[in-house]
Amino acid sequence: MKRLTGQDRATTATWRPATRAIRGGTARTEYGETSEALFLTSGYTYDRAADAAARFAGEQAGMTYSRLQNPTVEMLEQRIALLEGAEACRTMATGMAAMTAALLCQLSAGDHLVGGRAAFGSCRWLTDTLLPKFGIETTIVDARDPQQFADAIRPDTKVFFFETPANPTMDVVDLRAVCDLARAHGITSVVDNAFATPALQRPMEWGADVTAYSATKMMDGQGRVLAGAVCGTEDWITNTLLPFTRNTGPTLSPFNAWVVLKGLETLDLRIRRQSENALAVGRFLEGRVPRMLHPGLPSHPQHALAMSQMDACGPIFAFEVEGREQAHALLDGLALVDISNNIGDSRSLMTHPASTTHASVSEEKRAEMGVTEGLLRLNVGLEDPADLIEDLDQALAQAGL
Ligand SMILES: *Cc1c(COP(=O)(O)O)cnc(C)c1O
Repeated sequence: MKRLTGQDRATTATWRPATRAIRGGTARTEYGETSEALFLTSGYTYDRAADAAARFAGEQAGMTYSRLQNPTVEMLEQRIALLEGAEACRTMATGMAAMTAALLCQLSAGDHLVGGRAAFGSCRWLTDTLLPKFGIETTIVDARDPQQFADAIRPDTKVFFFETPANPTMDVVDLRAVCDLARAHGITSVVDNAFATPALQRPMEWGADVTAYSATKMMDGQGRVLAGAVCGTEDWITNTLLPFTRNTGPTLSPFNAWVVLKGLETLDLRIRRQSENALAVGRFLEGRVPRMLHPGLPSHPQHALAMSQMDACGPIFAFEVEGREQAHALLDGLALVDISNNIGDSRSLMTHPASTTHASVSEEKRAEMGVTEGLLRLNVGLEDPADLIEDLDQALAQAGL
């Protein structure tokens, strides 16, 4: 197998994004296969005992065990790093494994983290429940306001952790302002970029230190596998992330890595079309429902900021109806759009966060995050938007809207 050398990586770095998405990271075996090979192997063999010893000592290039290295997984990591414009990437079994590793690898008892209020439910569990259990204090701020990050900084603050756009309220964070603030105070900024993906937003261009992904969402894009990724500098990945992940083992399976590799080939096409569809559906809903939370529409209070950081609005937005009963009635009236809490799929999916993804978050915290009883989140897929609009039209009517 021809593994990529530093020289190859320098060449691939000049490729434009569409080329990176198709070819980045590809390493071919002696058979010259066009599509990436899938290496379903847990271990590797050595010609001689001395080779095994040299490899374990790090003196000989080569793989030792698939918790640590796998050729298919490495191809995906190099492709994501190229798309991100990051020096290095490591993939994880799920998005939550990526978030957990990105935080725990660098935080110790006595450290302090500042996190964004609007976040994926499990991300809030990390900041509100897991980290404090290990003596890591956390302060939650309204991440839409950079001043709140500034006010929360303490001498022991080590990490800023936030999403933009955030799940599910579509809060937008000013990446430049918050990441610059982190840099100025020696704080590491960790950005959960699952909603936009590197196809639409590359936080490192705005000063982010670390980006973390649920690749389950748009990167796979077809609702097949769970996967996660963490990107950073070569130094941070090698010396901070790897000691944690090599020994705790949140490793991505080679099969899932292969599926995500295939997904990345069409990421740009899908996310641009889904963004267009999300705009069409959003324009239809605006005026018909009491409140829209759609970063692609001028009615979103942070529309200008969102569009200055992102190349398109992305497939996901939220809106509000009059409480849980009407939200459930609208969901139950859908004939084409599925009731599903997943996102980033090529199918349109709608969920009621307060009773699903954020049901484990206390009512008080939901209110603080903006997850109201009438909030619905819609992932707009690749279907014809006219069909989606017809379906929503009849479901809204059934729900009395
Ligand atoms: C889905 C999601 C996660 C968790 O990812 P999994 O792959 O489900 O573990 C984290 N953050 C955001 C913003 C997500 O949408």
